[in-house]
Amino acid sequence: MDKIQMTTPIVEMDGDEMTRILWQMIKDTLILPYVDLKTEYYDLGLLHRNETKDQVTVDAANATKKYGVAVKCATITPNKQRMEEYPQLTQMWKSPNGTIRSILDGTVFRAPILIDAVKPVVKNWKKPITIARHAYGDVYKAVDLYTEKPGKATLVFEAEDGETQELLVQQVDGAAVWQGAHNKDSSIRSFAKACFQYAVDTRQDLWFSTKDTIAKVYDGRFKAIFDEEFEAYAPKFKELGITYFYTLIDDAVARVIRSEGGFIWACKNYDGDVMSDMVSTAFGSLAMMTSVLVAPDGTTEYEAAHGTVTRHYYKWQKGEKTSTNPMATIFAWSGALRKRAQLDGLTDLEAFADRLEAACFRTLNDGIMTRDLVGLCEPGFEAKAVDSETFLKEIAARL
Ligand code: NAP
Ligand code: MG
Repeated sequence: MDKIQMTTPIVEMDGDEMTRILWQMIKDTLILPYVDLKTEYYDLGLLHRNETKDQVTVDAANATKKYGVAVKCATITPNKQRMEEYPQLTQMWKSPNGTIRSILDGTVFRAPILIDAVKPVVKNWKKPITIARHAYGDVYKAVDLYTEKPGKATLVFEAEDGETQELLVQQVDGAAVWQGAHNKDSSIRSFAKACFQYAVDTRQDLWFSTKDTIAKVYDGRFKAIFDEEFEAYAPKFKELGITYFYTLIDDAVARVIRSEGGFIWACKNYDGDVMSDMVSTAFGSLAMMTSVLVAPDGTTEYEAAHGTVTRHYYKWQKGEKTSTNPMATIFAWSGALRKRAQLDGLTDLEAFADRLEAACFRTLNDGIMTRDLVGLCEPGFEAKAVDSETFLKEIAARL
């Protein structure tokens, strides 16, 4: 059989632990036999990030800007415990996702992968809910301070031209915690554009929520920018019969639970972090969630929403077979291949991405799945738990 050809490489970011093992298995079993795969490879495994002083992460993000499409494996973000586990680390390197997101300045869209056998915990949810998470600023780029004495804190802004603005934060009578957060008009505007464009591309309604009754200036700015940016999209929304509306986050939460799904819910950085975990868990699991970072210039990075599945990796290291769910990582690959195909006009490659996903669904619908999913299946559905390798072979057989 002739392999499907590619013209432009995809930026491939390898990662850590169990997902790194799955990464290679997925390529070997589901991609390389069919596609003449062209990638520019970056090893974002923790030790290689350490060896390159994290330059490899920056290089990978810049390559993503250059080529337009990337696929990323889950990676370890070192913490204290990891510093003990890997004594060779010279620094507690920052989250690669954080580094990549701030270089690409994007919005992360997360949508559950639905199958008939696993029903959402929320009974009335019939269609996927996509969370659009702003990926810049707020508490993720904030500074924190702990003070012990009575006193006051002020917020001072010094413009480059020397003009200053000052505001009293609070006068306190004892120990206190403080936080200084910011966001930028330019980033909020990109966030708004990415959301409106994604709604148009996927023909879904867009909801946006913040807490602008409390954070009148901060969240108010988000709301105003969304309103401004919507003007350009309003005719297109009308044409497609889709809507945009803004509501308070508390109201949004209530409405989301009562809804049927089938829309995009745009959230600020922190809200999106938390709500995407809630939505994915209610739909099934993080292992059944697609995640894509979309930058304002259209650059995309596909990834799994879950981590490196450390506990499974430790078992795998002892020679045990694990039943780790590779769906999110497979869909990161199919998503990236499809996007590359669309940009380069490669119909064969686009069809391959569709067939790969269809083969995954057929396998799951046949009751062959990883252990995590078996536990979530409806009573009466006959499901068999297999290890990851067998699961991938079953997909390949259907592909
Ligand atoms: P995790 O890797 O997502 O795993 C947490 C637990 O969820 C697992 O122990 C497993 O439960 C279950 N799980 C997650 N993905 C699964 C899959 N594909 N198949 C089956 N079960 C799955 O989160 P973590 O343990 O908090 O983090 C581990 C490492 O990942 C950390 O070093 C963290 O920095 C990193 N991380 C990376 C990313 C990223 O790169 N995108 C995101 C989050 C975390 P059972 O053990 O009960 O089976
Ligand atoms: Mg999170």
